[in-house]
Amino acid sequence: MREWPGHVATSLRLWGCTFRCPYCSTADLRTPVETDVSWDDVVAHLVVHRDMLDGVVVTGGEPTEDPDLPSLLAALKDLDVDVRLDTNGSRPDVLSYLLAEGLCDSVALDVKAVPARYRQFSDERDMAARVAECVDMLIESDLEHEFRTTVVPGVVDPEELPRIARALRGGRLYVLQQYRPVAGRALTPYDDDVLRRAARECNRFLPTSPRGLTIGDD
Ligand code: SF4
Repeated sequence: MREWPGHVATSLRLWGCTFRCPYCSTADLRTPVETDVSWDDVVAHLVVHRDMLDGVVVTGGEPTEDPDLPSLLAALKDLDVDVRLDTNGSRPDVLSYLLAEGLCDSVALDVKAVPARYRQFSDERDMAARVAECVDMLIESDLEHEFRTTVVPGVVDPEELPRIARALRGGRLYVLQQYRPVAGRALTPYDDDVLRRAARECNRFLPTSPRGLTIGDD
């Protein structure tokens, strides 16, 4: 299950991602996975369990890198479930098409860091600009959306978060995601209060909430 407040949702993970986030918890999905299971099989499985669901979160990896994404989303829409797309914002061309075709009901867009830090995640020199294009697209749309930053020590400085929030002004929600250590990396998360303070600063620009805190979200 994947978090989508207000929904009983299941998640579908698509393989492929050109980013190299140092904290990635799905690194095994960055390259193709051998499987005999087709998307038709997956949709048929969802049909059987349709009554238990009111949403599907399509995530990854990075779903917008999968050429099957539009047809998969269309099949999910035919099931009459709400569909949320998780994306890192690397493919504004794909997002633009999905929005124009009405293939998702909600988008959660990861804003990894301030633009100057994007080279930590991608070798593509224009990646921060691509993400900014996706941000603007969502702000200008009527679609439910949230922007998310995972606040990872050494990757995101909490003092940079209000700068990110300023660039998201006009957006519906900004989520500061507490970092959960992944196997093999001995990074200690910031104290929850650091995220709470940063959220208060970011609230000057758009509604902002910490998520995944040790004690509980604000
Ligand atoms: S964008 Fe997501 S899937 Fe890709 S490397 Fe980063 S955390 Fe992993």
